[in-house]
Amino acid sequence: MSTTMKVLLGMALGISVGLVINLTGLNASGTWVNQYLTNGLFHIVGSMFVNALKMLVVPLVFFSLVCGVCGIGDIKLLGRIGSKAFVLYLMTTAIAIASALFIASGLGIGEGMNAVANSNFSGKAAPPLSSVIINIVPSNPISAMAKGEMLPVIFFSIVFGISLLMVGKKADSVSSFIEALNEIMMKMVNVIMAVAPYAVFCLIAKAIANLGLDLLEQLLGYVLVLIGVLMFHLFVTLQIILKLMSGLNPLTFIKKMRSTQVFAFSTSSSNATIPVTLRTVTDRLGVNNSVASFTVPFGATINMDGTAIMQGVATVFIANIYNVDLGMMGYLTVILMSVLASIGTAGVPGVGLIMLSMVFAQVGLPIEGIGLILGVDRLLDMIRTAVNISGDAVVTAVVAKSEGQLDESIYNDPNAGNDTADIHLERV
Ligand code: ASP
Repeated sequence: MSTTMKVLLGMALGISVGLVINLTGLNASGTWVNQYLTNGLFHIVGSMFVNALKMLVVPLVFFSLVCGVCGIGDIKLLGRIGSKAFVLYLMTTAIAIASALFIASGLGIGEGMNAVANSNFSGKAAPPLSSVIINIVPSNPISAMAKGEMLPVIFFSIVFGISLLMVGKKADSVSSFIEALNEIMMKMVNVIMAVAPYAVFCLIAKAIANLGLDLLEQLLGYVLVLIGVLMFHLFVTLQIILKLMSGLNPLTFIKKMRSTQVFAFSTSSSNATIPVTLRTVTDRLGVNNSVASFTVPFGATINMDGTAIMQGVATVFIANIYNVDLGMMGYLTVILMSVLASIGTAGVPGVGLIMLSMVFAQVGLPIEGIGLILGVDRLLDMIRTAVNISGDAVVTAVVAKSEGQLDESIYNDPNAGNDTADIHLERV
């Protein structure tokens, strides 16, 4: 059985077991299921796996990016790839939020529902744009690495790679050393992937078991519209962009991205999924590491289409509930704020709500309105993270294709990279 199949099976089983536990009420606090299974075994195995993925992120990004820069070998070309990716990331996020605002307000979700906020959600103020820009340059690269701050790590790695190139011959030993380290990191991804199907099962079973389904029913309108727009963006908008801008077959893309989406879904974190996304776009979609090593971690940080969609739908929903008329200016502010907020915040679980509070503060919506949707956000976070990383992969493929850095024979081979998760411990 291929790894993809095993991971999908883990997800299906996880959903079923989680639903059974939730619906039968077995998960009430104090029961043995709650103590030893959902908060015991599932929690432990799942968290260990997420930790293992996170453990790889910083070294993997550093080594593969340095190799990528050396592989490109041309600083101008690097600038071109970077600007293309940046523009495309902003464009997809803006399209995502605009379509969310359009569809949600067309459907009038939340109208006539005079709910009262049931929790005190205290928001966060948006970081000033100047500090977002200043902080791209780390004053201490080790501290940025320790904290897993992606943009400063990317910046340091690129400057390191460029300087390595400029030193030339003298630094050859360092380049080959880093190349070897990069190979080792990629191998570590494979080793960790060997347990992925079980870990995915645990993560999803725990999340679904803990989800309050009653709350889902109450907010059904919001949840369904949001999932609808997310699916529309994933299967229609992004695929049109892929087809029009690269000519690649969207069906192949969708098939090959499935298991990576499951990882994003089960970890709710674009950042933790970086190792898997990177492996998929290089081994399965045929993107050259020199492009992918840059666009994937960059996208995980600045590109969040799914999160932007959530913000659009939530803004309309809460505005309708509180009878606030945002007007055209309000909507435009929401679009601008969401795009800016997605650049300044990292792809980690739940960050979407923090970004939402920045947007609300800007357009004058009551922040405590977020309390209304807080309860269902766990599930929606999982789904939107899968959309977020799919957007990263589409842009990566488009940029790589336009630069002649995508191997179509790999892209079109259904089995390419599917078995790299097999680990052979004997030395070859
Ligand atoms: N969890 C999302 C991500 O990592 C961000 C969010 O929407 O909360 O991409």
